[in-house]
Amino acid sequence: MSDQTLTCKSCGGSSFAVGQLGHGYANIRPVNKKLTTGSPILLTYCQDCGEVASIKVKELCNLKQY
Ligand SMILES: [Zn+2]
Repeated sequence: MSDQTLTCKSCGGSSFAVGQLGHGYANIRPVNKKLTTGSPILLTYCQDCGEVASIKVKELCNLKQY
């Protein structure tokens, strides 16, 4: 994770946390590739108001097309 300072575009706050979305069947997967385990999604959100500042695929290698 990076240490760069984020500023919330909604409330101007600067305290963020990272949460993970997806586990097993809730993982993101390429639509045309059903056998991959896919990857969870990481969300960086403001701890003051809940605004999501960043959405990132956690394990990009699982989603690469071969
Ligand atoms: Zn905020």
